[in-house]
Amino acid sequence: MARITFLMYHELELAGRKLCQSEPGYVRYILPLDTFRSQMEWLKQSGFRGLSVSEALRFADERYPAERCPAEPGVCITFDDGCETDLIAAAPVLREFGFHATFYLTAGFLGMPGYLSAEQVRELDSQGFEIGCHSMTHAYLSDLPEMELRREIVDAKTKIEQVLVHGQGIGHAIEHFSCPGGRYNQRALAMARRAGFKTVANSEFHANDSATSAFELGRVAMMRDLSIAQFSAICRGRGLWKKRLQLETRRGVQRLLGNRAYDRLRAILLRESS
Ligand SMILES: [Zn+2]
Repeated sequence: MARITFLMYHELELAGRKLCQSEPGYVRYILPLDTFRSQMEWLKQSGFRGLSVSEALRFADERYPAERCPAEPGVCITFDDGCETDLIAAAPVLREFGFHATFYLTAGFLGMPGYLSAEQVRELDSQGFEIGCHSMTHAYLSDLPEMELRREIVDAKTKIEQVLVHGQGIGHAIEHFSCPGGRYNQRALAMARRAGFKTVANSEFHANDSATSAFELGRVAMMRDLSIAQFSAICRGRGLWKKRLQLETRRGVQRLLGNRAYDRLRAILLRESS
């Protein structure tokens, strides 16, 4: 049975182009385009296939006929936030290597400077990439009262589905959600389920297989300083437990302090270490 690592990317850095945000806590998740390209090149040379979330789930499902699964190992490629570089930088590289991917969009950011416009979302969709939802305003779901939670999950889904309606076309449903900042609780998951999402991805460091809940898909954050050796270990599912241990420690501190106090502390620590 397939065990698949889900990679989590964000905006990509292009020479001479301003990033959507500039604080150190944001920039450490931003890869220069060349770094991203060399990772995709490594995947191709190592015989991996780049999969969207829907494909990864299909191949990880033990009921799916083994003879219809590709022989090569797969890695799931995802992007959060809906930055313009999804279309102008990531998509051309993915197409060059014949890889699929899922792009999770923050619905309320569409059309803002540096983010995808509605037209660009339709272009990404028509190129065959999968479009998912990353909330309305990028709020941390674990902090929200019912009404706001509904806006972040239900209204965001509707908004992106409306964007996807091409000309005379009827569009299609958005089925995959990813949690801003990786934060969520059972209430948020229940609402995502009721809204009609088929999966929810977070940023817990583990690979996924048929035993993983579709509403708690782990993903590994791609950090700016990741070496190709570390990248290859992640794609092969090695060494994830170490990262997981670090993350669990961090989550413990997060729970203790609450999201806001944690973010302030993190901003101070990152400033001091950069
Ligand atoms: Zn995000």
